[in-house]
Amino acid sequence: MQRIENINAATMNDDQGYGLIHDATVIINKGKIEFVGAAFDAPATPTAEVIDGNGGLLTPGLIDCHTHLVWAGSRANEFAQRLHGASYQEIAEQGGGIKSTVKSTREASQEELLKLALERAETLMSQGVTTVEVKSGYGLDLENERKQLTVARQLAEQLPVNIKTTLLAAHAVPPEFKDNADGYIDEIIQNILPTLANEGLVDAVDAFCESIGFSPAQTEKVFEAAKKLRLPIKLHAEQITNQQGAKLAAEYQALSADHLEQLDEDGVKAMAENGTVAVLLPGAFYFLRDTQKPPVELLRRHGVPMAIATDANPGSSPIHNLPLMLQMAATFFHMTPEECLRGVTVNAAKALGEQKRGVIAEGCYADLALWNCQDAAELTYQFGVNPLKTLWFNGVAHDRVSKPWSAH
Ligand SMILES: [Zn+2]
Repeated sequence: MQRIENINAATMNDDQGYGLIHDATVIINKGKIEFVGAAFDAPATPTAEVIDGNGGLLTPGLIDCHTHLVWAGSRANEFAQRLHGASYQEIAEQGGGIKSTVKSTREASQEELLKLALERAETLMSQGVTTVEVKSGYGLDLENERKQLTVARQLAEQLPVNIKTTLLAAHAVPPEFKDNADGYIDEIIQNILPTLANEGLVDAVDAFCESIGFSPAQTEKVFEAAKKLRLPIKLHAEQITNQQGAKLAAEYQALSADHLEQLDEDGVKAMAENGTVAVLLPGAFYFLRDTQKPPVELLRRHGVPMAIATDANPGSSPIHNLPLMLQMAATFFHMTPEECLRGVTVNAAKALGEQKRGVIAEGCYADLALWNCQDAAELTYQFGVNPLKTLWFNGVAHDRVSKPWSAH
C-alpha cells in the first residue's frame, strides 16, 4: 500500500476542467486507487509507504490513443528530398511514401521491429505516458500484420506500459492487390481480420477512409466484419477530403474518429449522438503544413469529447512527444489547457474503450504521473522541458531517470 501526500491532484474526474483537489492524498492498494480526496478526509493507513509529493501535481498517467509505433525504415531521405525540391509524385515513383515503409517493415524481423518499437515506447513513457494504442497497417498481409501486432503485444510484456492494439490492415492497398482495392478488402474481412482476432491480437479495428485510401463503401465492409466479431471500431476520417467517414463510423458506434480537419456539422452531430470521441492529431497537421483546422468550436458546442494524440508514424507525424501535442493543440486549434489535458487522459481513455483509466478515481488502475508543476496549465503552456518526476503503472512507481523501464 502506498500513500501519496502533499500534492495537488488533477483527477480529471468531473464533466469538464481538471477536477482539481488541493492538498490531496491518494492511497494505492493492489494496483488500484483506494482513496482520492482532501488530505483531511483521508483514512489512516499506518502500514502504507508514504510518498511526499513536495507540492507537485498528480495527474492520471497520460494516454497516447493514436500511434503507428511499429515500423522499420526511415523516411528522413524523403523529407530531405522534398526540401531540396522533389515533388510527391517523383518520390512516389522512386518507391517512396507509405510503400517504402511497408517494404522495410515486411523485410524487418520481429526482433528488429521490437527493438525499434521499444525505444519509441520508452521515449513516450519518459514523458508521462502509461497507455499507448498501437496500430498495424505497414504489413498489409496476414503474416506481416500479425508480426506488427505481435510486436505491439511484446511491448507490454517487456515494459510496464499498457498497450491497446488496433488492426489497420485497411491502411493502403498492398502491391499484390494493385488496382484491386475491393479484392484486398475481401482478403481483410475473410482472412486477415478474423484470423488475427481469433489469435487475440486485435483490440479494435481501424481503416483509412479517404480519396487516397478506401471509399466509404469499402470502409463499411470492414466495419460490418468487425461488428460480427464484436470488435470496436475507429476511423481515420476527414483528413484531406470530406467523405462523411466520421458519420459512418459514428453510426457503427465507433470509439473514435480521428484527424477530422474536413469534418462538417452533420458529422459532428452524428458523433455527439453516438458518443464517438474526436481524436485530434496536431502533429500531422503541423508536419503536413495543413491549414484547415478541425472544427473544435463545433465539437465543443455539440459536446463531443476531444482527445489528442501523437499519430507517431514515419510519414506524416515523426513525433514521439505527447506533451508537445498539448502545446500544438492549444496554439493551432485554440483548445484550452483543460481540454488539452482531458484530451490525453479521460477522453483518450474513452477513445480506447478503457473504463478504468484516464482519471484518478476510486477503483481505477493506479496509472499516475507526478509532475514538478504548480499549475496544471503548465503541462500545456511549456514545451521542451520535462517536469515528470514519478510515473506509476498499475500502482508500481518508477522514478524518471534516463531509461528506468527496460528489461532489455
Ligand atoms: Zn494515423
